[in-house]
Amino acid sequence: MNEFRADLHCHTSCSDGTLTPTEIVHLAKKIGLSGLSITDHDTVEAYQTAVPVSKEVGIDLLTGVEFSTMFNGVSIHLLGYGFDVNHPELLEFCRKHRLRREGRNRDILKLLTKHGMPLTEADLEEMVANHLIQNSKNSVGRPHIALAMIKKGYVKSVKEAFQKYIGDGLPCYANGPSFTSEETIEVIHRAKGIAVIAHPHLIQNYQILTPLMELNFDGIECYYGKFYPKDHERWLKIAMKRDWLVTGGSDFHGDIKPDLPLGSSWVDQERFQAIKYKCESIRKAN
Ligand code: AMP
Ligand code: ZN
Ligand code: FE
Ligand code: FE
Repeated sequence: MNEFRADLHCHTSCSDGTLTPTEIVHLAKKIGLSGLSITDHDTVEAYQTAVPVSKEVGIDLLTGVEFSTMFNGVSIHLLGYGFDVNHPELLEFCRKHRLRREGRNRDILKLLTKHGMPLTEADLEEMVANHLIQNSKNSVGRPHIALAMIKKGYVKSVKEAFQKYIGDGLPCYANGPSFTSEETIEVIHRAKGIAVIAHPHLIQNYQILTPLMELNFDGIECYYGKFYPKDHERWLKIAMKRDWLVTGGSDFHGDIKPDLPLGSSWVDQERFQAIKYKCESIRKAN
């Protein structure tokens, strides 16, 4: 029998991934995953199709989302799992994120234009139309802006766009008003989900780690992307000390990030069941 593996972090074309929800569920099955969570940025739209498709092909699908948040002035990604995808407050929160992204993307386009790289909203819309399922509920992000920059010949790769211009804190980066980590955790909890720190490996501001860990989290993403087992130990120790759930996933985005294949990080059956058990107990308690 195949070993049980559940990849709990991936993005579809409902945000900045390149595969549709249907394609990603089929790929998960093809590569032998037993469980999956789709964690698009600030949207749960993928679940409209991913739920029936995963039932059809026999993939154990856990609801998920990756929210962009701010904590003490630092951008932090939080994962939510096991919530009700139709929860009105959660859907309203996703709608607010969509508006936030629209304003922030306009600001980034203005900054790029100011720096001699003119890009219009029509240029971005064209790029989005090529990559997103046409739906007003989807999340447009910096990777789409990076692709539009490549098309114009301003940069050669998505990586270069981030490293030189649109990465956090760089000259063409804009964030706009955002939601705090604290309020995001509360929304996830009210939608009957669990709140998890995403990829702590990538947090470069070490000073905020200690206060961040004091927030009301239920888990931490210990296994991530292509990091080595020794890189996971530090986070596993924290999870054990705090009695937090351990999650893990690849952060697969399709062709846009070819170095992170689906299934490159995952949790085993025991960890997956522990997460599902906790989510079920939250649902029953409400
Ligand atoms: P946004 O949601 O618009 O803030 O964009 C964030 C997303 O951009 C991340 O989740 C990644 O998918 C991608 N990203 C962030 N930093 C980089 C980078 N240095 N190179 C390539 N992609 C990146
Ligand atoms: Zn992304
Ligand atoms: Fe992230
Ligand atoms: Fe991600």
